[in-house]
Amino acid sequence: MKVLVLGSGQLARMMCLAAEPLNIRTLAYDVNQDLVVHPITQLPMNMSYADAINEVDVITAEFEHIPAPILSLAQQSGKLKPGANAIQAGGDRRVEKALLGQAKVNNAKHHLVSDEASFNQAIKTLGLPIVFKTAKEGYDGKGQWRLKEASQAQGIWQQMASVLSSSDASQAIVAEQFVPFQREVSMIGARNAQGEIKTYPLTENHHENGVLSVSLALGENDVLQQQADQMFTAIAQALDYVGVLAVEFFDLNGELLVNEIAPRVHNSGHWTQQGCYSSQFENHIRAVCGLPLGDTQLIQPSLMVNLLGEAQVNNQVLALPSVGVHWYNKENKPGRKMGHINVSATDKATLTNKLSQLKDLLPISTHQGIEAVLGKLTS
Ligand code: AMP
Repeated sequence: MKVLVLGSGQLARMMCLAAEPLNIRTLAYDVNQDLVVHPITQLPMNMSYADAINEVDVITAEFEHIPAPILSLAQQSGKLKPGANAIQAGGDRRVEKALLGQAKVNNAKHHLVSDEASFNQAIKTLGLPIVFKTAKEGYDGKGQWRLKEASQAQGIWQQMASVLSSSDASQAIVAEQFVPFQREVSMIGARNAQGEIKTYPLTENHHENGVLSVSLALGENDVLQQQADQMFTAIAQALDYVGVLAVEFFDLNGELLVNEIAPRVHNSGHWTQQGCYSSQFENHIRAVCGLPLGDTQLIQPSLMVNLLGEAQVNNQVLALPSVGVHWYNKENKPGRKMGHINVSATDKATLTNKLSQLKDLLPISTHQGIEAVLGKLTS
């Protein structure tokens, strides 16, 4: 079988690495350069997007902000999994909010803002504080404003008005009630065309400057896991979803509220590469290719540390047992996701020790996230 991935970044690369043992070939489409490339070498495959669509059995995506004409060609081929409806829900917060309402899953109360009158109405309806988010193109905390006090309202509205007037007419802003959560967790799971669903254990996520820093999977809290399972299933069914789906939640005193969904493999699921028998990448490929889903049980406590804006990784890391390095071979830019490290251990105490040893070998940019997780592990 052959799969075309829309997008040619590290997620397409890791899908390719998981697909090869199943004898499934992958191609990647670099949407910005209009180039079909090999997902690992990035070498051009000397075929057009239309040729690639004809050549493959399945088309999937590694990101949700796909230009409409490209997405619609994929959808028209009948090969796109998950479907355009799911990809659009991940790429537009208005569609996402409508979906969450339809699936009847808990999420922050919201109000759509398109002009000053609706901005003022949002403040009246939701009360302060409010988080404003651009409906499209916002990710990793970009395109967001926090309104804490009424005195900031005019200044923030001016900034949002200038974004709205410089964007195309389809842009809008979603105002969301601020959720005073204790922590952020996510669930990664897969659904295949037969409707079979398998979810991975919940992951606790720590961010730095809005970007994921460390994800921790302990497989501990059955009550929360069940709550997340139900919400995941409701969303996946509402979308008639096929593939791996990520759902990000706020944990508010043991009650989960969906923050957002990502219709794809997700950074907070990278630990599954060594914490589970079948990684999220393998399960995505299995699901979109119509194969049975693989085991999603946690083999042992695991975590992932992102390497952001680093030119290289200290090879001494490889001397630590059950530590895996994944390097994406991308051009280094400040804050860019360059690679990640997975760590597993038989129990929490051993995981804590390994993480402390790892910290000494990793750059300072990773320390804040690692310290937060060390604090959690020893609490
Ligand atoms: P997002 O791009 O929607 O994931 O938002 C980026 C980060 O902003 C999240 O990871 C949260 O830490 C924070 N955030 C987003 N929405 C809210 C909200 N309604 N209440 C509190 N914090 C939020």
